Amino acid sequence: MDNSRIYLSIGVQSGFEKEYISKALEDNRITSGGPNVDNFESELQGYLGENLFVAALNSGTSAIHLALILLGVKKDDEVICQTMTFSASANPILYQGAIPVFVDSEKETWNICPENLEIAIKDRIKKGKKPKAIIAVHLYGMPYKVDEIHAIADKYEIPIVEDSAEALGSCYKGKKCGSFGAIGILSFNGNKIITTSSGGALISNSKEIKDKAIFYATQSKDKAVHYQHSEIGYNYRMSNICAGIGIGQMKILKNNIGSRRNNHLFYKELFGKIQNVEFFDNLNEDYFSNYWLNTILLESEEQRENLRIAFDNANIESRPLWKPMHLQPFFEKYPYYGSNIAEELFKKGLCLPSGSNLKNEDKIRIKEVVELLF
Ligand SMILES: *Cc1c(COP(=O)(O)O)cnc(C)c1O
Repeated sequence: MDNSRIYLSIGVQSGFEKEYISKALEDNRITSGGPNVDNFESELQGYLGENLFVAALNSGTSAIHLALILLGVKKDDEVICQTMTFSASANPILYQGAIPVFVDSEKETWNICPENLEIAIKDRIKKGKKPKAIIAVHLYGMPYKVDEIHAIADKYEIPIVEDSAEALGSCYKGKKCGSFGAIGILSFNGNKIITTSSGGALISNSKEIKDKAIFYATQSKDKAVHYQHSEIGYNYRMSNICAGIGIGQMKILKNNIGSRRNNHLFYKELFGKIQNVEFFDNLNEDYFSNYWLNTILLESEEQRENLRIAFDNANIESRPLWKPMHLQPFFEKYPYYGSNIAEELFKKGLCLPSGSNLKNEDKIRIKEVVELLF
């Protein structure tokens, strides 16, 4: 039997990527921005909702950074961020010289907890500063509690940056993730559900915001014949070559979501039979996850490590859940609101191989490891 490495999540190709890259090369459009970029943006707009405006950028991280800039986040401002996330959600707060304030997860979607969010907002206001923005994340593709979180944000008039890096194709009440925030962001990094090798996008419902994002992303050039700048600029635009990959990838987005959801059904059946494993599933029919990654909770950290090592010995990649930001050496000095929900998830949780190209043979190998251990 083939014993090659089974990965957590790697890209698959539609075969059309080459066509769009070749066209860019033939036309000598080896540029940042360009026709592939415009077309990729239109396709994303068509997919997410025609009333939206999408700016294609060179990473999800730069999209979050520009989102904060567009929302007016400046030095010493405070920005609330879900603690249970990947560091790229929080780093751009520091790029602005602002202060991250971390909030715990709730147990049902593992995303930002409404109660603790409101406690945090009230306490920060009491201490003298109203947070400038809230970064909420659809972690592993699972939508956060959109209605509850947005109701609180609206009540205190704080805009939400919706980190949808892992959730392209996920929906809440039938509406696509990425479309809920004052600004939404996507990532097309190599491990995401579609990839442009590196890339990201900023989503808003205003053409003005899109245009301003592109202005900042292309060095903030004023209208003049010479290079004239009245604002700080960034080199964050997507390359025309990468966008060619993106157009090719859009052709298999639906298939990828289908494959990931099939992986989900496979794991649901496999772990459904095992008593001491809790399988992470949609909360109810309002939630539609793309199941970018499938995840489980074991009874203890020790059990989690036993399974992870057993997988590794069989050349199968798995990984503990993302370590919460408030526990990271680099971020632990910043304020945190909550108890130990995210911490417990981190201790007991494991991400399972969930690639769009997971084959039947791979599933047999995964099943063997699990059945041997439990
Ligand atoms: C991948 C990811 C990002 C960053 O995207 P890049 O394109 O890698 O810069 C941000 N937030 C989350 C939750 C992610 O998983």
